[in-house]
Amino acid sequence: MKDKKFCPWCGLGLTEKFTEGRMRQYCCACALPVYENPVPATSVVVVDKDDRILLVKRNIEPKTGWWCLPGGFLETGESPEQGALRELREETGICGKIDMLLGVLTNEGRFYKAILMIGFLVRNFSGTAHAGDDADQAAWFDKDRLPEIAFNSHLSLIRIYYAGYRQHMADSACSP
Ligand SMILES: [Zn+2]
Repeated sequence: MKDKKFCPWCGLGLTEKFTEGRMRQYCCACALPVYENPVPATSVVVVDKDDRILLVKRNIEPKTGWWCLPGGFLETGESPEQGALRELREETGICGKIDMLLGVLTNEGRFYKAILMIGFLVRNFSGTAHAGDDADQAAWFDKDRLPEIAFNSHLSLIRIYYAGYRQHMADSACSP
């Protein structure tokens, strides 16, 4: 993660000040704290008919060479669903349809102090997976043969899918 050094409004150097309950970066000229907020990002758990999960092998920092879920930072002007499906298309060539929200989590970032990760489930899609932007490979993995996953938030979303979501579906199938 990187600290901001200059005020984004007036360009003067920042100092640190205890304000509103914690140490914050502060601009004396503007007399304002510079708040640090999590940056929103999306990711998608794409599941095929054999209950395998689509992963991409990263070719950019951070975590080059690691596998992760397709996804990326949300752009201004798009909804979380649009951002998630755009990243899916760019990274894997898959055109998907959002089934449901799987979870919203926070994760420490390399460039940002905190990332707000919005995870969706996609079960309906068209196209064949191939590596696109930011990825060397795109491949389907069985639950029992998952590689090490680059980000904790992605791993949590995969676990939410395999544990919580499927359990939830089983429970609803049993109820009258
Ligand atoms: Zn300022």
